[in-house]
Amino acid sequence: MELFPKSNKLEHVCYDIRGPVHKAALRLEEEGHKILKLNIGNPAPFGFEAPDEILIDVIRNLPTAQGYCDSKGLYSARKAIVQYYQSKGIHGATVNDVYIGNGASELITMAMQALLNDGDEVLVPMPDYPLWTAAVTLAGGKAVHYLCDEEQDWFPAIDDIKSKITSRTKAIVIINPNNPTGAVYSKELLLEIAEIARQNGLLIFSDEIYDKILYDGAVHHHIAGLAPDLLTITMNGLSKAYRICGFRQGWMILNGPKDKARGYIEGLDMIASMRLCANVPMQHAIQTALGGYQSINELIVPGGRLYEQRNRAYELLNQIPGVSCVKPMGALYMFPKIDIKKFNIYDDEKLVLDLLAQEKVLLVHGRGFNWHAPDHFRIVTLPYVHQIEEALSKFARFMENYHQ
Ligand code: PLP
Repeated sequence: MELFPKSNKLEHVCYDIRGPVHKAALRLEEEGHKILKLNIGNPAPFGFEAPDEILIDVIRNLPTAQGYCDSKGLYSARKAIVQYYQSKGIHGATVNDVYIGNGASELITMAMQALLNDGDEVLVPMPDYPLWTAAVTLAGGKAVHYLCDEEQDWFPAIDDIKSKITSRTKAIVIINPNNPTGAVYSKELLLEIAEIARQNGLLIFSDEIYDKILYDGAVHHHIAGLAPDLLTITMNGLSKAYRICGFRQGWMILNGPKDKARGYIEGLDMIASMRLCANVPMQHAIQTALGGYQSINELIVPGGRLYEQRNRAYELLNQIPGVSCVKPMGALYMFPKIDIKKFNIYDDEKLVLDLLAQEKVLLVHGRGFNWHAPDHFRIVTLPYVHQIEEALSKFARFMENYHQ
């Protein structure tokens, strides 16, 4: 008998992006193989760099950033966050409504721990960024997945959301722009989701970490601004738009009727104080990032790396017989569909492992994003065009004769 098995709490918690598939790739690397990794949304290894002014600001502030700070974060950083939302017409929050965390990831976990009792339900998109499902499950809650509809540009299916509300539903999560699908939600859709939340007394979590990564003139709308009468918790951070995932700087900001959530806010404060505070030197990056030159804008227009890489990946994926893909309007990913009848596929994780073994290309299987069928996978569009071309020509070759 195992002396120290994992806790029961973790029994149904999954985070496959760094799971068995990722571990298989690491083993191959240890054996000396070079793996083309299209699995993690981490810009730095693909040659993306942070704006210089951010690095300089962090270095300058290092000598005076040696102590703990307030559990919610540095005042100057939180002020800059409040001002960022004010500049977008969102006026419902003060510095006290902002929590800075070691990445949005930490805050997602904290937010669920403070909210959920055993069996409480949270509506989570399917496919999702799987940390949301994992965080709900770890907190004792039940993630109830609502469909995002590939036929409708991956927009959430409003009827499906409505049909999944029960007396135990506490909150709804939206990811906009979306990981893994790249969908950017319209104002009309967000208003419909807000109306559902209003009618059913739901808290809205809006993960907007890709709000500045938009293509082809797509416009991002903050649901907090569209529904100021509702309690919204918006998550964001520096990882993606400023290419500094490793700095671990994220935030959440509460808008709407906070007087109706005093207990929850007390809980959030308690959990924030239990982990003392987020990394302090790196918090100095926030003010400079939000107020400085927005170099991300150069990357997402024609000629910019992110734009060109997305276009090439989209083009090449759709040329592969039996593979099709909706064009992402934002973020750093695609979630292509595979014709599973054509290839007789019943296990998408096996597909990813077989591809890895044969071609040394790493993707993530769609069920890792809580998708219901083995007919999708995710790729990141961060590699250079020549790397995308190499990876996708290997993938096309692999699919030519593949079946399970
Ligand atoms: N939310 C989404 C949708 C993400 O894709 C990611 C990272 O990939 C995160 C949150 C976590 O970001 P952070 O680096 O701030 O923890």
